[in-house]
Amino acid sequence: MKVRKRTTALKLADYYMGRDREYRRELTPELRANARETVRRINRLLKRAGLLRQVSSGWRPAAINAAVPGAAKGSKHISCLAIDLEDRDGALDAWCLAHLDVLEDIGLWLEHPAATPDWCHLQTQPPRSGKRVFEP
Ligand SMILES: [Zn+2]
Repeated sequence: MKVRKRTTALKLADYYMGRDREYRRELTPELRANARETVRRINRLLKRAGLLRQVSSGWRPAAINAAVPGAAKGSKHISCLAIDLEDRDGALDAWCLAHLDVLEDIGLWLEHPAATPDWCHLQTQPPRSGKRVFEP
């Protein structure tokens, strides 16, 4: 009998938010690979931080992204290179700011917490500025 370990790690399904069904044709092999890598890096980060977080926004097909107020047209959420994690108490944002070496080690870039009041935006590719903590 297979024993299922209780896990707190985020899953690919959490990242897709069910959109992999309705928008299946948009989800190319490249995007799927990006999503796997994003989830992998975020799970490493959460483990290092010792925090549990829900996905507040994962993959956004272009049509979904266009309907998100304030979302950039070229958002990295569209290409599965970014994730928003629920962070109402700001503990994850604060941890990230205090551990930029860990972000660098894992390969993550953080949108400045001032721009993300209730959530934490992380991405697996550098922004144009190249800054580890960047302004939107
Ligand atoms: Zn985001």
